[in-house]
Amino acid sequence: MADSQNKSITSLDRARGSVLGLVAADALGSTVEFTSPEQIKQKFGPAGQTEMRGGGLLNWAVGDYTDDSQMMLCLLESLVETNRETFTGLDVADLGRRFVAWYDSHPPDIGLTVSNALARLKSGTPAAFSGDANPESQANGAVMRCAPVGVLWHRPAQRFELVRDSLLSAAPTHRSPVAAGACMVVNVMIAELISGQTLETALAQARAAANPEWQKVLDEWNAAGRPHRGNSGWALSTVLTALHCIITTSTFEEAVIKAVNGGDDADTVGAVTGEIAGALYGYSAIPARWLKVLKDREKFIELATELFGIGENNPVAS
Ligand SMILES: [Mg+2]
Repeated sequence: MADSQNKSITSLDRARGSVLGLVAADALGSTVEFTSPEQIKQKFGPAGQTEMRGGGLLNWAVGDYTDDSQMMLCLLESLVETNRETFTGLDVADLGRRFVAWYDSHPPDIGLTVSNALARLKSGTPAAFSGDANPESQANGAVMRCAPVGVLWHRPAQRFELVRDSLLSAAPTHRSPVAAGACMVVNVMIAELISGQTLETALAQARAAANPEWQKVLDEWNAAGRPHRGNSGWALSTVLTALHCIITTSTFEEAVIKAVNGGDDADTVGAVTGEIAGALYGYSAIPARWLKVLKDREKFIELATELFGIGENNPVAS
């Protein structure tokens, strides 16, 4: 069972943990994306994939991260750069421009939903409307990158802004209640954990803030005994499996290893597990042997630290 509350971890360490936890888990999962749990065991032995090895179907370098962290970096840099001088929250047009620049760099790993939406954005649809609003469009490409909004709006008095910007951060690529609502659920958890709340309180607060679609999903998952829901590319299963992996383990390392060894969309299930578990256990709990080789580690730490500071000091709400 996950550690419920450890008062010795600072809010800043938890904020850094959410951002770096996402990146580290994404990099760890890149090795086993698109493979089955059985294939992972065959290749790496009974303990499975536990080290930064790179490789995988897309032949990543050791410590490199995939589209999950690349898009998260767009959101992180957008929030820092647009709020450094004048505090306004998320500027979705700025975020959209960064997503298009990333799309134009021809990233090797890009989901279909994201690719279609960014093509619409590039051809002139405003960023707030370029995501697919079809209720059946439920992929996990927005929730995999949402953590910076939770870091910025971590203070309890800023719940309105947290929910607003969580949905808005999804909008350029995902506008369905399930896909965008997933960002709200995960970011409320991240904000609660950064504030030092227990995992159970964070979950209860996320359920309370969630839209009806997500309240139903969480209630059914709770009633079913909080099971693993597989590692598919859907937002529902991704978030529930991430929560299962955190609740059934006791450390950041165990949670993330359990998540990526489900294979399939391993990097993204890892990323979502990492962004929540990182806020629970803090940056200091991420294994040093992973951080040592993690690409752009210092850049992510600096940006996460600055964003957390903007959230702490902003004049919008007390
Ligand atoms: Mg990926």
